[in-house]
Amino acid sequence: MQIEQELYSGKAKTVYTTADPDRLILRFRDDTSAFDGEKTAQLARKGMVNNKTNAFIMEQLEKAGIPTHFERVLSNNESLVKRLDMIPLECVVRNITAGSICRRLGVPENQDLDPPVFEFFLKNDELHDPLVNEYHIRAFGWASDEEMATMKRLTFEVNDVLKQLFMDAGILLVDYKLEFGRYHGQIVLGDEFTADGCRLWDAATRKKLDKDRFRQDMGDVVEAYEEVAERLGVELD
Ligand code: ADP
Ligand code: UDP
Repeated sequence: MQIEQELYSGKAKTVYTTADPDRLILRFRDDTSAFDGEKTAQLARKGMVNNKTNAFIMEQLEKAGIPTHFERVLSNNESLVKRLDMIPLECVVRNITAGSICRRLGVPENQDLDPPVFEFFLKNDELHDPLVNEYHIRAFGWASDEEMATMKRLTFEVNDVLKQLFMDAGILLVDYKLEFGRYHGQIVLGDEFTADGCRLWDAATRKKLDKDRFRQDMGDVVEAYEEVAERLGVELD
């Protein structure tokens, strides 16, 4: 499948159209950003590691019956996906407290959440992705009640699959963010699942193996992403 033209260039990926109106190419770049684009860097190999890790995870989710946009890997940094009408919401599930929930609610980090917590955020960098509830989503028409219910159900199904997958690799799935879109009337998981959009801690040592290493200037960011990939059995270049 050939690239036709650039549709959108985000903080970490560039999206291209193809000859098929129902298919896009995602190019995973080495660019990394945090704090709504305030902090940026180039991290060699990150695009390749994320493209391959995302492909592996999306395939696992498909096998478990979760509809995803993923079609196939095209190259080290590119994958073919279904073109979705993206819903401007981020669906977050938290199994352990970390990040914004600690700042927002004054709770300590590293507290088990059982049952897990689900949160919707509006995808809007200028507004710093504010937390929104179902009344906001309904009032402003970002998604229907049925779509919200489907996104929540699928996000929890992803939790069941991935908590186990990571635990088998000795990794705790602390929290993660998903984005969904519409495809011919169906709600489908889009975007990516990589260490850029979740928190992963070594189960024995609680060493951080995700983007917090970049946010907190801990170093060895891509090395940690590669360690996650290797432990999952993802074949890297
Ligand atoms: P951001 O937009 O947050 O800077 P990225 O750099 O990851 O993030 O850009 C990728 C963009 O592509 C995101 O806006 C995401 O919503 C969008 N996207 C991801 N998957 C699809 C898809 N299957 N169809 C259409 N758009 C998609
Ligand atoms: N997340 C993301 N993109 C965002 C916001 C959050 O991928 O724009 C991920 C983040 O990496 C973490 C989870 O969603 O795994 C929850 O993030 P949180 O609300 O704690 O925000 P943060 O502290 O990362 O700003």
